[in-house]
Amino acid sequence: MNIINRIICPNCNDDHLVLKYVATYEYSYVLDSDAPGLKNTNELLPHMYDKREQKDTQQYIECRTCGTSYPCYFDRWTERMNKTALQNAVNSAYLATHPSVQP
Ligand SMILES: [Zn+2]
Repeated sequence: MNIINRIICPNCNDDHLVLKYVATYEYSYVLDSDAPGLKNTNELLPHMYDKREQKDTQQYIECRTCGTSYPCYFDRWTERMNKTALQNAVNSAYLATHPSVQP
């Protein structure tokens, strides 16, 4: 008997899943007498911003085999976020988009 230690795609039963985290940030640079940004003097260095604002985030688990994506949200990674919890997240996202499939 095999111990199930993989996270399985409910759509194709393969185990090539990746967690994707897409974030959009807006960086602001105050215009002063030299290069834009109070911390920049000679050139605009993108990491020397005056303000950074998170505009949007999106998380999903994607199957690299069949391309199905499963929306999810993990605000932090804890010890409780184990394989079972990830599999449950994938399964519930799959059921939400496939209402005819019974668990
Ligand atoms: Zn798949």
